[in-house]
Formats: sequence, C-alpha cells, structure tokens
Amino acid sequence: MTQYGEIVIDDKCHTSEPGIFAAGDVTTVPYKQIVISMGEGAKASLAAFEYLLSHEVVDTESESAAA
Ligand SMILES: Cc1cc2nc3c(=O)[nH]c(=O)nc-3n(C[C@H](O)[C@H](O)[C@H](O)COP(=O)(O)OP(=O)(O)OC[C@H]3O[C@@H](n4cnc5c(N)ncnc54)[C@H](O)[C@@H]3O)c2cc1C
Repeated sequence: MTQYGEIVIDDKCHTSEPGIFAAGDVTTVPYKQIVISMGEGAKASLAAFEYLLSHEVVDTESESAAA
C-alpha cells in the first residue's frame, strides 16, 4: 500500500499477491473517475480470467473433506 492507503497495482490490475486483483479508487490508478473505475474493473476481470486459465484451480474444500 502507498502512504495514502492505495493498493499498488500494475498495468493489468495485479496486486503484489498472486491471484489477487484490484481496481478503481482503492488502487494507485490516476484520475479517480467513474469511467476510469469501470475500465479498470473490466481489466481486472480479464486479468483474473487469464490467471485462472494459466493456473490449476485447487479445490481445498473437497481435499479436506476427503481426508
Ligand atoms: C463527492 C464526489 C463526487 C464525485 N463526482 C464524480 C463525477 O462527477 N464524475 C466522476 O466520474 N466521478 C466522480 N466521483 C468519483 C467517483 O465516485 C469514483 O471514482 C467511483 O465511484 C469509484 O468507483 P469504485 O467502484 O472504484 O469505488 P466506489 O464507488 O467507492 O465503490 C466501492 C464500494 O465498495 C464498498 N465497500 C467498501 N468496503 C467494503 C468492504 N469491506 N466489503 C464490501 N464492500 C465494501 C463501498 O460501500 C462501495 O459501494 C466523485 C466522488 C465523490 C466522493
């Protein structure tokens, strides 16, 4: 986070935590406006989709129930 409490993101809305994305006013994106937040939300969802395509999803609930 920055000194202003904003979540630091890169161009594709990745945070420093893999698989966690952020968008809008809560982030370091400049110009806090509605249309900017809408675009950032679209970018974050596409980045999350891309992440899911390239990472195996582990069902931890089923794993712990089976144990
Ligand atoms: C007074 C004012 C006037 C503005 N006028 C304009 C304007 O004329 N034109 C313009 O383009 N922009 C304007 N803005 C800026 C615009 O409102 C923001 O850029 C935009 O709303 C940001 O959208 P967002 O989805 O990122 O965040 P937000 O709209 O703030 O949405 C965040 C949501 O998350 C919810 N939330 C917070 N914490 C939690 C939690 N722990 N769990 C679950 N939910 C949570 C909040 O209740 C909120 O609903 C104005 C802002 C203000 C304050």
